[in-house]
Amino acid sequence: MSDSTSDTRPGSVCHLEWFINSRCDYTCRRCVPEASVQDKPDLGLEACAEALYSFVSFAEETARDAHITFYPRQAEFTDPFLTILDTVRDLKTRGLVKHVACAIRGDVPSDKIKLFRNAQVDALRLTIDGPEAVQDELRRRGSFQDTLAAMREARDSGILVIPLVILVEHNAPHVVDTMRMMLDEGFDRLVLQVGIRGDVGGAGTLAGHHPDPESPWNQLLLASEYRAVLVEALNFLDSVRDRHEEFRTRFILANPMYARLLFELGRAREYDQLAAAQARASVLPFALKPDGAVVAQQQLPEIGAFPGGSFKKMFETFHPLRWFRGATQQDDYMAVKQSAFGKCSSCPVRSHCKPMLVGVQDRRLFYHPDVHCWVGEGAVDSGQA
Ligand code: SF4
Repeated sequence: MSDSTSDTRPGSVCHLEWFINSRCDYTCRRCVPEASVQDKPDLGLEACAEALYSFVSFAEETARDAHITFYPRQAEFTDPFLTILDTVRDLKTRGLVKHVACAIRGDVPSDKIKLFRNAQVDALRLTIDGPEAVQDELRRRGSFQDTLAAMREARDSGILVIPLVILVEHNAPHVVDTMRMMLDEGFDRLVLQVGIRGDVGGAGTLAGHHPDPESPWNQLLLASEYRAVLVEALNFLDSVRDRHEEFRTRFILANPMYARLLFELGRAREYDQLAAAQARASVLPFALKPDGAVVAQQQLPEIGAFPGGSFKKMFETFHPLRWFRGATQQDDYMAVKQSAFGKCSSCPVRSHCKPMLVGVQDRRLFYHPDVHCWVGEGAVDSGQA
C-alpha cells in the first residue's frame, strides 16, 4: 500500500522510517510482543543524533527532500525520542527536513497530540478499525471514542490526519461505513493496510503474525475477498464522486489492485487517466531500527548501523539502492523483476502494478506478484461498479 506520508509531488525524496523505541506497553493486541524484544539495547541520544545528522547531510548533498516518519512507542514518551523530535523541528525550521510524520495507535492521548503539535509534526497516521462496536471488540471498550477524540484534536491543531485501517475479516464488512464516517468527520484521506491469506500471507502488511491463531488479527482475507472490498468501496466512491473527487482519486491510486479491478470492469481507461495525472516522486527508502541497524526495506539485509554509520556510504555501497535513485530507474527495475512471473507478463495492467519484495538471501532480492492479486486464485465474481 502506498504511504501517504511519501507524497506524490515531483522531485526526489529520501524517506527515513525511524523505529525509535523498541519498548512498548504491549496493550495493542495486534502486535507481537516478542518482536519488540531485541538482543541489543536501543540507541542512546548521542547515536540517534549522529544518525539524524548523517541522514540530513545525505539528503542535502544529493539534493533530496528529507522526510522522516517516526514510529514511537505507545507508552510514555522518553528520550531519545523527545530530544530528537525537538532537533528535527529546528532542522525543519532551517529547511533541512521537509516533512515529519508519526505513525501510532489511534487512541493517542491529548498530551501527546500537544507534543506533536509543538514539534510541528506535519502528519499523524492513526489506526482506526471501523465503527465503535467493531473497534471496541477488536481493541478495548472506549478505544473508538478515544481514537475519534485524538483525530479531532490533531486535525484542529493543524496536523494532517491520515486514518489507517488494518483490514482483517472482522472489520472488512465495515470499510464503507468507515469511509463514510471519516468523510463526515472531515478527514479526506484513508489508507488500507491489508493482510492476505496465501503462501506469502501477510507479506508487506502488519497483520497476520500474531502468535495466537484465534486472534482476529490473524483472520486474513483471501485475495478474492479483498477484491469484493474494493468493489464495495468503488461503488461508494462513485456515489459520492461529485462531493469527494480528490478523496476518490487518492483512494483509488493508493490501492494498486484498482488497476486490475477497473480493467475487469471495462474501465481501464479511467484508471489510466487518473494515473497519468499523478506526478510521482522518486523515493529513496531507509529504515532505522531501535538498535541502530539500517535497512532499505524491512525484508532487506542490514546495510549499515549506528553509531559509526553513514547514509552516504550505505547508498554508495549497497547496490540495490541504486535502483531507487529515480522514478524511471525504479520502474525499469520492477519491470524486469515482474517479467519473470507468467501471469504478470501477460497482464494488461502490468505497467501499473509492481511486484513485492518478499525476501532476501545472500544479498539477492526475491520478489512475488502483488500478494493482493486475485488473478489465478479461481473464479471471482465480476462485481458491480
Ligand atoms: S500481480 Fe500481476 S497479474 Fe496481478 S494485477 Fe499485478 S501485474 Fe496483473
